[in-house]
Amino acid sequence: MKKITLLITLVMAFSLSLNAWKIDGLGTYKFEKVNQNVWVMHGPVMMPNKLNGGFMNNPAVVESENGLIVIDPGGNYNVGKDILKEVQKISPKPVIAIFNTHKHGDHWFANKNFVEAYPDVKIYALTYMIEQVKESAADLWYDILNRLTGGNLVGSNNPFAFPNTGVDHKEIVEVDGQTFIMRHPARGHTDTDLLIEHVNSKTLFLGDNLMKGRFGAFDFSSSLYGNIEILENVINKKDGYGEYNLYVPGHGPSGALHETLDPFLNYMKIVVAGAEKAYANDMESYEIKPEVMDNLKDYHSWDDIEGQMGKHLMKAWSEVEARDE
Ligand SMILES: [Zn+2]
Repeated sequence: MKKITLLITLVMAFSLSLNAWKIDGLGTYKFEKVNQNVWVMHGPVMMPNKLNGGFMNNPAVVESENGLIVIDPGGNYNVGKDILKEVQKISPKPVIAIFNTHKHGDHWFANKNFVEAYPDVKIYALTYMIEQVKESAADLWYDILNRLTGGNLVGSNNPFAFPNTGVDHKEIVEVDGQTFIMRHPARGHTDTDLLIEHVNSKTLFLGDNLMKGRFGAFDFSSSLYGNIEILENVINKKDGYGEYNLYVPGHGPSGALHETLDPFLNYMKIVVAGAEKAYANDMESYEIKPEVMDNLKDYHSWDDIEGQMGKHLMKAWSEVEARDE
């Protein structure tokens, strides 16, 4: 009997691995159990492009007694088909809730696949995030991602699957015995962010306030100073943050506190220090860019640093200027 069970398990594991989601030129992708009842499928650590089709975030799943709870399902309807299949390999249980960490479409446009499969699913996001995506952010991000992926956003809109349940700072959401605490810092990666604490497993999902191995946009609604403060609060267990077993970034590998948070925190600090120095010396941000790049030797292997750092430096410079007014 035992031998038969083992054999069946092996055959199942083998057939599942055969069917793992393969992206040509990048590799295979599947959910890995990272902590107790928590699974993450770490996406390609790169900018959205034709190769990854717009899949580069970290969809996560929390398994409860009667269902699955998904955090940031993914970047569009086309990649969402495979992400949904991978979610369903974790368990045949239905998806009973979804959380969206912020307004950028690479994290939530695949809500649509899950709504199709589970029409009653509750999708939580910050109330203000829902207002923003409905007003203009969804269309804006559709266009950006559609251009970068060579048209792979087709099917994600008309209509978009907007989050349908607003939450706010410090709200506690209970789903089937699993407890989630919402934390909304006024301004960090965007002004619509939720950091989500999963109490049962002691996991903190930081959304794009944390990245590792690649950078993201600091758009007009973001703040480098704010993002630095968020990561410092998490590290120092201030502002309600506690000790967690696992820290999950919006992009890049999950891990323990310092190995996961320090690199991005130090990157932002180096960029802001460069902006402050330039401003104090009546220099424009581009004039100090070579010096800042020199101070960022540890980050030269991160994806697209050439394309990203100058923009971040310019944004930091404008924040320094705004603080001086
Ligand atoms: Zn983002």
